[in-house]
Amino acid sequence: MPRLTKTEINHLKITLERLKEELKEQVSQSESSTKIVTLDQTLIGRLSRVDAMQQQNMAISTRQKKAFRLRKIQIALESIRMENYGYCDKCDDAIGYARLNVQPEANLCINCQDKADQ
Ligand SMILES: [Zn+2]
Repeated sequence: MPRLTKTEINHLKITLERLKEELKEQVSQSESSTKIVTLDQTLIGRLSRVDAMQQQNMAISTRQKKAFRLRKIQIALESIRMENYGYCDKCDDAIGYARLNVQPEANLCINCQDKADQ
């Protein structure tokens, strides 16, 4: 796998910066919406309280996933600054532009990711 060109890195950096802003906004928005559910629980009946709690749990897990992705994006941006972006954490192979274009925060090559998913 060839090393990324400067143009490719710049393009991925712009994508990462944009994703970072989007996720930051979504995480802070969902923080306030999960708080509203907590407050409303005293005002509603038992069944709808269960509903509200399930919704809240879903909102929390979505938020955790987003917060986790946000951290990976921040790590990716840091590795661009350190000029070691685009290499697999496990085998040190270049991750490849096609894969990074889909998932710019990826820190594993497709082979190692497959193994990690199993
Ligand atoms: Zn690898």
